[in-house]
Amino acid sequence: MLRIDIITVLPELLESPFNHSIVKRARQKGLVEINLIHLRDFATNKHRSVDDYAYGGGAGMVMMIEPIAACINHLKSERPYDEVIYMSPDGELLDQPLSNRLSLQQNLIVLCGHYKGIDERIREHLITKEISIGNYVLSGGELAAAVLCDSIIRLIPGAISDETSALSDSFQDNLVAPPVYTRPADFNGWKVPDILLSGNEKLITEWLHNQSIKRTQERRPNLLKPKDTENSNIQG
Ligand code: SAH
Repeated sequence: MLRIDIITVLPELLESPFNHSIVKRARQKGLVEINLIHLRDFATNKHRSVDDYAYGGGAGMVMMIEPIAACINHLKSERPYDEVIYMSPDGELLDQPLSNRLSLQQNLIVLCGHYKGIDERIREHLITKEISIGNYVLSGGELAAAVLCDSIIRLIPGAISDETSALSDSFQDNLVAPPVYTRPADFNGWKVPDILLSGNEKLITEWLHNQSIKRTQERRPNLLKPKDTENSNIQG
């Protein structure tokens, strides 16, 4: 079973995303355990503060080492972790292959930053992986952590009732998903493509695949380029 321990100063922000729909059911089925860990519980001074002024000056506070180190070390003393992840705008960009890999792990820590971020020494010494959900800046790591966890959890076998459903999603095979339709077959003259009503399974599968390729060429041509450019140079 996958266990995700999320370190946060704002656990309230994370409650709703984990208490609905697929993620909620995955938790109820025992496929994933999510723990929200209050960083303030590990504060070392009497004001329970977790941030301080930045050395060198400038606007904005910085999250301090002591509470974060105490929290991570406490967790690590109880079980081994596969990754200690820090959500960060300059981290590795989240994509489907990364979610796939993380969904196979056992124990993950996810640290949510705030203010100007966390003391750099935490990143150097305690963090094993930094993940960004895109090239824009959020106010805190919680929404990014929710996005990361959702994308991971829906991939765990059994999380989605139709087992093949997650596999046919966009990006799973480096293609975006084909268009989908439901009833009515004709809405004021807007028609569902005839082929989908034909009942010919083989032709339908072929059509869907071609639509996927066409859409990927139009919308995400980068997905179709070979990853290993060095190799393709040799071949080309
Ligand atoms: N000063 C920092 C931004 C801090 S934003 C900078 O310019 O890089 C506060 C926190 O929000 C960060 O510590 C991080 O945990 C989270 N965060 C913001 N944008 C994010 C993104 N795109 N992906 C993941 N986490 C993000």
